[in-house]
Amino acid sequence: MGEQLVRYGRELQASGAAQVGSSFTGDADADELLASVPEAFLIGVLFTQGIPAERAWAGPWLLLQRLGHLELERLAAERDSVAAAVQQPPMLHRFKNTLPAWISSAARRLIDEYGGDATRIWPADAHVLDVTGRLAAFDGIGRKKAVMAVEILTRHYGVQLRGQECGQVAYDVQVRRVFLRSGLVARDTLEEIERAAARICPEAPGTSDLAAWLIGRETCRPRRPLCDSCRLGTVCPRRIGIDVQGVGARRA
Ligand code: SF4
Repeated sequence: MGEQLVRYGRELQASGAAQVGSSFTGDADADELLASVPEAFLIGVLFTQGIPAERAWAGPWLLLQRLGHLELERLAAERDSVAAAVQQPPMLHRFKNTLPAWISSAARRLIDEYGGDATRIWPADAHVLDVTGRLAAFDGIGRKKAVMAVEILTRHYGVQLRGQECGQVAYDVQVRRVFLRSGLVARDTLEEIERAAARICPEAPGTSDLAAWLIGRETCRPRRPLCDSCRLGTVCPRRIGIDVQGVGARRA
C-alpha cells in the first residue's frame, strides 16, 4: 500500500507537479506570479484554507489586480484597502476579515524579520524543520500549511533544503481520509499519520503528501469513492465506511 502511494508521490516529484496537474490556478499569469514573486507565494499559502485549491492559489493574482500592487509596506499599513479588495464582490475568500488581517500581518513580518524578501525564509540549504518553523510562525499559516508549503517549495520550485527525512505530509482532510481508508493508519491522529508517512518513506516522508491529497480529492471522495479508478485500487482494503471526523480546516 505504502509502496504504491510513495511511487505515485515520486512520479509527481519527478514531473515537478504543481498541485492540480501542472498548474496551481489554471491561469498562466496567476501561476507566473506565484513562481516569480516569492511574497506572492507566501500570500497564496495564506489563502489555502477553506476554499478550492485553484481559487486559493489564484488569490494573490486577483488581489494584485484589485489593489494594483503587492507592495509589502502598503499591504502592512493599508489594512482597510486590503480588506476592501478581498471583500469586493465576488469575494476572494470566505475568511473575509481574518484573511486580510493575515496578509497585513505577514507583510509586516516579512519587512521586520526578512528584509522584505520571502526567500530568506527558505534560503538554499536551510533545514526543513527550520523553514517549517519560520512559516508556521506567520499568522494564518500554522503547522499544516507550513508543511504543505515546504513540500511545494522543494517539489515544484526546486528549493534545496536539508533534512528531507524530517519533512511530512500535511494533516489535511484529504490526506487523512486516504491514510484511513487505505489502512495506513488505524486512527485519525496527527501522530499516527506522520508516523505512517515516515514508515513508508523514511528518507522523505513528505513524498506522499501530494499523492494522498490528489487521491483524496479525485477518487477517495467522502461519498461514492471511485475505487476502481484509484491509484491504490488494486491494493487498498477499501475501508470506505470510514471517513474523517471533525473535518477541520481544509487545504482546499
Ligand atoms: S481504493 Fe478506494 S478507499 Fe482506497 S484510497 Fe482509493 S478511493 Fe479510497
